[in-house]
Amino acid sequence: MFVSDCLSVNEKGHLTIGGVDTVELAATYGTPCYVVDEDKIRENCRAYVKSIEDNYAGNGLAIYASKAFNCKAMCKIVNEEKMGLDVVSGGELYTAISAGFPTDKIFFHGNNKTLDELEFAVRENVGRIVVDNMYELENVNREAKKQGKTVNVILRIKPGIDAHTHSFIMTGQIDSKFGFALETGEAMQGIKAAIAAENICLKGVHCHIGSQIFEVMPFEHAAEVMVKFMADIKAETGAELDELDLGGGFGIKYSDADKPLEYSEYMATVAGVLKSACEKYGVKTPFVIIEPGRSIAGSAGITLYTVGAVKEIPGVRNYVSIDGGMGDNPRYILYQATYEMVCANKADKAKDYKITLAGRCCESGDLIQENAMIQRVEPGDIVAVFSTGAYNYSMSSNYNRIPKPPVVMVSGGKARVVVKRETYEDIIRNDV
Ligand SMILES: *Cc1c(COP(=O)(O)O)cnc(C)c1O
Repeated sequence: MFVSDCLSVNEKGHLTIGGVDTVELAATYGTPCYVVDEDKIRENCRAYVKSIEDNYAGNGLAIYASKAFNCKAMCKIVNEEKMGLDVVSGGELYTAISAGFPTDKIFFHGNNKTLDELEFAVRENVGRIVVDNMYELENVNREAKKQGKTVNVILRIKPGIDAHTHSFIMTGQIDSKFGFALETGEAMQGIKAAIAAENICLKGVHCHIGSQIFEVMPFEHAAEVMVKFMADIKAETGAELDELDLGGGFGIKYSDADKPLEYSEYMATVAGVLKSACEKYGVKTPFVIIEPGRSIAGSAGITLYTVGAVKEIPGVRNYVSIDGGMGDNPRYILYQATYEMVCANKADKAKDYKITLAGRCCESGDLIQENAMIQRVEPGDIVAVFSTGAYNYSMSSNYNRIPKPPVVMVSGGKARVVVKRETYEDIIRNDV
């Protein structure tokens, strides 16, 4: 009935998440409010861990791409579920360390890590630095030398694959700011420089071909291209690399039009490709790393809002304004992301009202969705927008100096706050 099986309707006709009444959550914690189902997140983590065990003899590691949704509680869950963590900034790294995440299972990504971030990462002995470019390789080597260490590195490669997704979130092709290009020889040059670098230990190669991908084909193609490259590396340098990081990008359901893959299907297929490609090209099967982000947290989360003004413009559209907007969810304004929604306190009623769900920011473009179907809503009703567990809280801002909403986690029928609602005092905290 809904885009995620953690959502349902109770006997009062109210929407529930993880069995908890969302109307009660809105009353207890206020709106706007992010709610995530911890049990669903854990289930998703386990599915990835299990898929590597079942299909690849456990010779790999699933690491959570924490930019999707990061806070201390989330880092603890991911660690408990025996996954690694992908961070892309000093702030994400700091959050993970504050949560006690083992640094040897942290992978540090990013196309332009600052010198301070590299100093921090080397000092904290992060498991892998995923090096994006030649300039960064030199910086990592210099920093490692300064601290008297050898740093484990993976090189990010652009395998030249078009994953048929929205161009803003397509990163595997040559026209991308991320990684070393394969076609131009830049990648092989980077490999040789990494091997030659005194304070670097080159562990493997990485690629990430995009996001919200529904087909397994692009992943198969990427796996094949990367194994071939590992064989080329062996032929040209004699070095047989141990690790292959295939990135993330597994699609989730925002609407019924989306048909996500089973996590096990991805790994079953890709493991098969890896094994046959390794045989074909004469290299050993690598330790494999996958980096799901959105698919861990996305459909486990919703956002609750209270309806304010309802503006019906005859022959034009019906604007339903809520107490949140682009500050807590910039994805519609960024890339016209699709969302489904219900009126949480009328969830058993038919969705027969076509609306534009508008935010409260001073921007005409501050919309969460256009042409959306919902129950007939009035001021005071609670609206729940689905599939907001990933890239919502993590992309939120204080535009218009609106405090960020809290994050409430539900588990086993109980709720708890894992990120507090910001206050006005928080808003001026750094003002001098
Ligand atoms: C964003 C990102 C991911 C996660 O992508 P999802 O689409 O959220 O699964 C994984 N790896 C890298 C390097 C990324 O930049």
